[in-house]
Formats: sequence, C-alpha cells, structure tokens
Amino acid sequence: MAIEKIMVIGAGQMGGGIAQVAAQAGLQVVLNDIDAALIDKRIAFIDKTLTRNVEKGRITEGEKQSALARLVPSTDLQDTAGADFVIEAASENMDIKVKIFRRLDELAKPGVILATNTSSLPITEIAAVTGRPESVIGMHFMNPVPVMTLVEIIRGIATSDAVYQVVEELARTMGKTPVEVNDYPGFISNRVLMPMINEAIYCVYEGVAEPEAIDQVMKLGMNHPMGPLTLADFIGLDTCLAIMEVLYEGFADSKYRPCPLLRKMVKAGWLGKKSGKGFYAY
Ligand code: NAD
Repeated sequence: MAIEKIMVIGAGQMGGGIAQVAAQAGLQVVLNDIDAALIDKRIAFIDKTLTRNVEKGRITEGEKQSALARLVPSTDLQDTAGADFVIEAASENMDIKVKIFRRLDELAKPGVILATNTSSLPITEIAAVTGRPESVIGMHFMNPVPVMTLVEIIRGIATSDAVYQVVEELARTMGKTPVEVNDYPGFISNRVLMPMINEAIYCVYEGVAEPEAIDQVMKLGMNHPMGPLTLADFIGLDTCLAIMEVLYEGFADSKYRPCPLLRKMVKAGWLGKKSGKGFYAY
C-alpha cells in the first residue's frame, strides 16, 4: 500500500516534529491529540519554525504554505480509518500506549502499519495487544525531530521483514537515516546513553566532582557537544529515571540501578530544564 496519508498520535514535542517533517516530505498528515488546544499550539509552533526557515532561505514561502496545508488537526481517533500509516507519539506510559494500540487496531484499515515512537517501552509487548503484531514496529525519532537525522527502527519479535522495509523507506522519504535494531530494553540509543548519564550522576552523588567539572571533562575530553548532566536536564530527569527503570527491570542486572541521587531529585520535583531546576538552574 502506498503511504500518502499518515496519522500522528500525540501533538507534543515529538509528535509535532514528526508531523512537521512528514508534511515537508509531501505526506498528508493528520495530527491527533486528546487536547485540541495543544494541537493548535503545536501547529502555530510549526508555522513559526517554518517561517524562520523561510527567513533563513532554507525553504520558500510556497513550500512553507504547502507543508502547512498538508497538516490537519484531529481529536477523534476514528480518523485513523483514513490513514495509510500510523505513528504514535503520546506520553511515555505503557497503559496509555496499550489503550491507544487496542483502538488503533480496531480502527485502522487491514495491513496498515502501526508504529510507536516510544523511547524505551517494549515494542513486542505493545504489539501483543493488537491482532496485527507483524505490522507493529518502533520508529524512534530523536529530539528535535527536524534537526536530528537518526531514526532507530525497532523490530518486535513478530515484526515482518516486509513491514520493516516499508518503514525504512518511509524514514528515508522523511530525510532521515534509519538504523535497524532488535527489541531489547533501551534499544541502542538509550541503552548506551542512559548508563553514561547515570554514571555521571553517581560521580556527583559520590562527590567525585561538581556537575560543571563532569560536563567539562566529557565536552573537552571526549568531544561531546553537551555534557551528560546538561543533557539529562534537557531530556528531563523523570524521563531519565523512567528509562533507567526499564533497563534495570528488563535486564535484572544491578549495573543498571538508577542512582539514588537521581531518584531523590525526581521526588523533589527537580526535573531539569522543564521544572526550572535540575543539575543546573534555568
Ligand atoms: P510530550 O509530553 O511533549 O507529548 C505527549 C503528548 O501526548 C501530549 O500532547 C499529550 O496530550 C498527548 N497524549 C497523551 N495521551 C494521549 C492519547 N490517549 N491520545 C492522543 N494523545 C495523547 O511528550 P514527547 O516528549 O513528545 O514524547 C512522546 C513520545 O516520544 C514518548 O513515547 C517519548 O518517550 C518519545 N520520545 C521522546 C523524546 C524526547 O526527547 N522528548 C525522544 C524520543 C522519543
């Protein structure tokens, strides 16, 4: 089935980015959320981003207008019935995702691929609540979606080769570079990144050095564009903890235990940039 019209579930920072990139790639995009005001806000944000791109000479006014015209808001999951491809980017919560996938399976045309942008939840488990596990797959975009070129494509245990090929092709159509990954906790990106961030937090916890010093070592010494503690603040410390819990539980291996300081900061409501306080003040 040719993919011309896609449904994006969740109009948060990731869903909005995916919708923007897909519309710019010439796809019709239905952007769905439970909150109509959030969708309006997200479309206004995309408009502003594209306007900036026109001002910088990256795209023409005509290209901006046609991308915006391809974006349609929706608060009704029934709109899935008209889509050739669905990607879910709702909140990182298994109960929410399971409910959405049960509904999507009922509503989507037979054979339509149901993808999830989850950063850590098991694709196989999400697929198992549908009657089409061979057509369920992880399509993990990086933040911010319009800027970052990587897409991890995660095969659940039942994902078919044909479905994988279609999603890889779609990622390329959207200007991204796909990397194939099997479904294990954290995939590649967060399995490698999060233990590094967690270890940097242990360094603060054990008094090895101040956050600034740890970030500086990784920036100047390892050529990382951003130190791990600054990155943790940007990702959100609650999200970092949630991903460490997935690794810890998924592998039942103590090497993934979340640092007690990370737990304490999350309990205090120090979530990083979004709450105004994390390892740094914002
Ligand atoms: P966000 O909080 O910005 O957005 C989530 C959106 O989902 C909200 O607008 C919310 O209203 C909506 N939503 C919640 N329940 C819904 C439902 N039942 N139906 C429709 N919409 C619903 O979150 P985000 O950062 O955009 O993350 C979304 C997904 O992308 C998560 O699975 C997350 O793990 C993943 N992800 C996030 C990042 C990141 O850096 N933030 C990177 C890669 C992947």
